[in-house]
Amino acid sequence: KNLCRLVHETMTGANCVTHWQRIFEQNGISEPQYSSEHIISHVLGGKTIHSLAEKALTRPLTVEQKQMIWNLCSKRLQHVPVQYVIEEWDFRDLTLKIKPPVFIPRPETEELVSLVLSELAEEEDVLFSVGKTRWQNSQQAAHPLFLEIGCGSGAIVLSLLHFFKQSRAVAVDKSPEAVELTRQNAERLCVQHRLQELQLDVLSDSQKLTRICGLVDVIVSNPPYLFHEDMSGLMPEILKHEDHDALDGGADGLDVIKAVLQLAPTVLKDHGKVFLEVDPRHPEMIQNWLQERASLRLTYRATHWDICGKPRFCVLQRS
Ligand code: GLN
Repeated sequence: KNLCRLVHETMTGANCVTHWQRIFEQNGISEPQYSSEHIISHVLGGKTIHSLAEKALTRPLTVEQKQMIWNLCSKRLQHVPVQYVIEEWDFRDLTLKIKPPVFIPRPETEELVSLVLSELAEEEDVLFSVGKTRWQNSQQAAHPLFLEIGCGSGAIVLSLLHFFKQSRAVAVDKSPEAVELTRQNAERLCVQHRLQELQLDVLSDSQKLTRICGLVDVIVSNPPYLFHEDMSGLMPEILKHEDHDALDGGADGLDVIKAVLQLAPTVLKDHGKVFLEVDPRHPEMIQNWLQERASLRLTYRATHWDICGKPRFCVLQRS
């Protein structure tokens, strides 16, 4: 018993990582090492275990640190996602506040942002090459106006505003918690004056966007796109803790996507673009759906693959 107390009293961050990793493993918690490392480095003031100085990991933990680690790891033992446990997460070069049940940004969505940035940068390159008259010939604004549909924590729109320092954006979500979280993250990143958040469901309230008709350069969305029948196969972290409305896209996963495409020609400028993250079955389904709707002024431009080799992103353009 005394030995046990001694071990406990002199427990270091490094011991603690192994200790909790083992407890997570024994309790069937997914990603046990990753979870333990993230929680403990968070308590010790680092982003990752590797970013901490050797000293921080080898000195005995304080009573407060042990208490905090205990509280946070107990949440993880209830299958609470590690991002909700530590209440923040990195997305590209931003650190975002994360709060349940708002959708936790995924790595694929970082790729969606890269795609938007690289396409817009390409257009800018062309424009630069025509010297002074570059903006006159341009269909694309120098400071594009963005509309994000289903903003969640604000990951996408805030990354775009972080890059385009003079752009403005409108971000909408049906969830009031998401809208509030996007607002808080915009404030943390000091871009709140360039962002208008709106609580709105595109399936029923898209008329509320008439104010920005014909003004938007780029619509971007990571909509709920899972097929309803796939929802039950999700891991408990997602199923029990995240907002289902951010994931469930209806029977064919296209409910919100169709609403976005129907809204797009109205709010977009001529030649404005839509960038979507979708299920790998969707690019073909979307192209077929559009073929039956020639009157919808929208052209399917390209499919892009994610890092896992899945067709994951669609680019469309107002025609
Ligand atoms: N890729 C997400 C997941 O598997 C789904 C995201 C979405 O529906 N927008 O959890």
